[in-house]
Amino acid sequence: MIFSGFLDLTLSDYKGHAASIVYTQGCNFNCPYCHNKSLIPLIKEAKGFSITEVKTMIKNNPFIDGLVITGGEPTVHKNLVDFIKEIADKNIKIKLDTNGSNPKMLKHLLDNSLIDYVAMDIKAPFNKYKSATGGFKDIKKIKDSIELIKSSQTAGEFRTTSYSWLHTKNDLKKIAAIANHKEATESLYLKKLYLQPGTDINGTIDKQWLQTLKDISSKLNTQNFHTIVR
Ligand code: SF4
Repeated sequence: MIFSGFLDLTLSDYKGHAASIVYTQGCNFNCPYCHNKSLIPLIKEAKGFSITEVKTMIKNNPFIDGLVITGGEPTVHKNLVDFIKEIADKNIKIKLDTNGSNPKMLKHLLDNSLIDYVAMDIKAPFNKYKSATGGFKDIKKIKDSIELIKSSQTAGEFRTTSYSWLHTKNDLKKIAAIANHKEATESLYLKKLYLQPGTDINGTIDKQWLQTLKDISSKLNTQNFHTIVR
């Protein structure tokens, strides 16, 4: 694994938990709006933290009960599973952020209860995935990951970072339809869709687009499916 960053404590990235965040280096997408471009190259010799160092930082932090593994894209690392097994601790819940491009590994993690929460980005309707991700074409992998998450008893969410120049209102409706699980009941099987207005390089949100997201969200919600703007 190549880790390029570590944050001791967050109260906002893993709901209900005081968590550390570990950032993995390397991503197989190249989203046009990515604010973590420096995390995209898979630099084999990157200077970062070793597994042992990360493990020590987690074990020595008495304030946390969670760990968020994010990137880049964590599942591009073949030994992610081994890393999670190494840090496994019944007192620390694991949240994985993923772009959904590695359903095989995701299935292994879910089937073996190695993660406690999964957050997957749905970047765009399937017909626009290639442009929204800077060239990723294997839509079957994305579809497989979505179905895995929907049918899993592991808690989780879908989320979409949205910009007025990237998505139309119709795109957002299509994304909600993709995320919706018609057989969901009020249980862990229910996976919400979070619509997040993207920010520009100064961290500013387009307020008009934010309002558009809120308007659309209120129309998409049903008894068993919720879209939430945050
Ligand atoms: S998936 Fe995430 S880290 Fe990778 S390019 Fe897209 S926004 Fe950046």
